[in-house]
Amino acid sequence: SLVSPDAHPVDREIDVNVLRPRRFIDYVGQAETVETLKIAIAAARIRGESLEHILLHGPPGLGKTSMAHIIATEMGAGVTITSGPALEKGGDLLGMLTNLGDGDFLFIDEIHRIPKTVEEFLYPAMEDFAVDFVFDKGVHARSHRYRLKQFTLVGATTRVGLLSSPLRDRFGLFRNFDFYDLEDLVTIVKRSATLLNVRMTHDGALELATRSRGTPRIANRLLKRVRDYAQVKARGKVTPETVGAALQLEGVDGMGLTPLDRNYLNTIIKFYRGGPVGIEAVAATLQEETDTLVDVVEPYLLKTGLLLRTSAGRKASAKAHEHLGMPFQRELF
Ligand code: ADP
Repeated sequence: SLVSPDAHPVDREIDVNVLRPRRFIDYVGQAETVETLKIAIAAARIRGESLEHILLHGPPGLGKTSMAHIIATEMGAGVTITSGPALEKGGDLLGMLTNLGDGDFLFIDEIHRIPKTVEEFLYPAMEDFAVDFVFDKGVHARSHRYRLKQFTLVGATTRVGLLSSPLRDRFGLFRNFDFYDLEDLVTIVKRSATLLNVRMTHDGALELATRSRGTPRIANRLLKRVRDYAQVKARGKVTPETVGAALQLEGVDGMGLTPLDRNYLNTIIKFYRGGPVGIEAVAATLQEETDTLVDVVEPYLLKTGLLLRTSAGRKASAKAHEHLGMPFQRELF
């Protein structure tokens, strides 16, 4: 949907290309990650080596793919982009690996969803820059080792806990992406507004940033809806009022919660008396995939303190009750 942080066809290719940061200098925030990677890149260049394999984890829409492009650009290398679910057979991966040149990058999004049989090809590829082809079956089976160029794998995942340990162990650099703070989001919104020729006041940018769920992809997407609204209803000028009116039409509230976020919290509050309740029960009641709730909905609700995770299950906080206008009963003991 429009307000989900996942990549989606609504993100027209042309806009994504215009807005995607190309160099570190355009990349807002994530200061420690940027610093760590700059050092790793400089050191690899001094030694004339390829970069170690990098694992980026965190919720969707926070700039992991953009970062992979930037690293490759800074290293003057090429990058091939794929995703775990797209690699159905070993051959899909082998084709990509054998096409990589020295120092090139392979970016695998949602790497935790790579099929097990395909994952096994990755181990020797990452460790020894080689793949083993097996010909024939049974007693006639012969294997042939094919040497690969020294490439760098960049893996991205929303859930690092789902990665098998042999895969996790083969990465040298790990970076965690967290939601962006308001200041960084304001900078991103202003940058995008300039690139898209949108006239926007500082307060307009602040209002939009506040409602972007800490996520640059959502900020950019909402900016386009706000731009449309402003062009039709406000002579193209984006103020906090224009943002409020445009986003109300999208079901995005003052905190940036989407209809799915609110349904999720309302389910816990109304069906399960505020919790604690297991995620499976909430998913069944909402008729949503558990993965969607865990990867897309919960991280931001946890971050903002609307949702609490306890050993007994999920609980809606006092703040969540207040935000949704529901009475909150404090526990008596
Ligand atoms: P992910 O791979 O984590 O899902 P992307 O790298 O595809 O996220 O980012 C989505 C969009 O958000 C990008 O196209 C870009 O326009 C914007 N974006 C993400 N991170 C940043 C950033 N640090 N600075 C500026 N824009 C960003």
